[in-house]
Amino acid sequence: MKKIGIIGGMSWQSTQTYYKAINEGVNDHLGGLHSAELLMYSVDFAPIEQLQHNHQWPQLANKLSHAAQSLERAGADCIVIATNTMHKVADVMQENISIPIIHIADAVAVKLKQKGIDTVGLLGTAFTMEQDFYRQRLQDKHGIKVLIPDAPHRTCIHEVIYKELCHGHVYPDSHLAFMRIINELHFSGAQGIILGCTEIGLLVSQSDTDIALFDTTFIHAQAAVEFALS
Ligand code: GLU
Repeated sequence: MKKIGIIGGMSWQSTQTYYKAINEGVNDHLGGLHSAELLMYSVDFAPIEQLQHNHQWPQLANKLSHAAQSLERAGADCIVIATNTMHKVADVMQENISIPIIHIADAVAVKLKQKGIDTVGLLGTAFTMEQDFYRQRLQDKHGIKVLIPDAPHRTCIHEVIYKELCHGHVYPDSHLAFMRIINELHFSGAQGIILGCTEIGLLVSQSDTDIALFDTTFIHAQAAVEFALS
């Protein structure tokens, strides 16, 4: 089994979901008492979040490259960046290590294509919804058209992520707001919705709706398991 290197802590609320999902995924394949071989570098999220909101992306790329190099030196065979947002610096990080980064948007694109979806709605942080690194990758590399919510809804989602979900708080009003946004995106033509922030699964799940949801945390964890067992 290959060793999975997880860069977690962004936030730790979703890193624990990754840890459980990866171990369950390995156990589903191998049975018995099998579990994943993994290494984790869990960061302090407060300075990361400040750097994000101050747009200090080169500094963030340095920090996460350092974490990835530490995991590589410790024996990891791949890197899982356990957040959608920080994939903004994934290409720079990849230049600084010789093991592969399992890209979260590529893992999601595989699932979308399996379901025959070519137009999708994207929920995530403002960075993920508004900047090019995520949408452009889905569009240019995978031919998937990406719809995003309007500006007030993007602000709402961003605030719920940083002020509630990253603290582990799940509120009914926020759940209703997210469901309304999901329905609107579907009405605008999205055949499915990417839960493109690793904490959104704490608030919304497939049992809430008939619209196909693509939870990046589980999809990314599953891609890591497939890599480890390949
Ligand atoms: N976990 C989140 C994501 O998937 C947001 C926290 C972060 O900024 O990394 O984008």
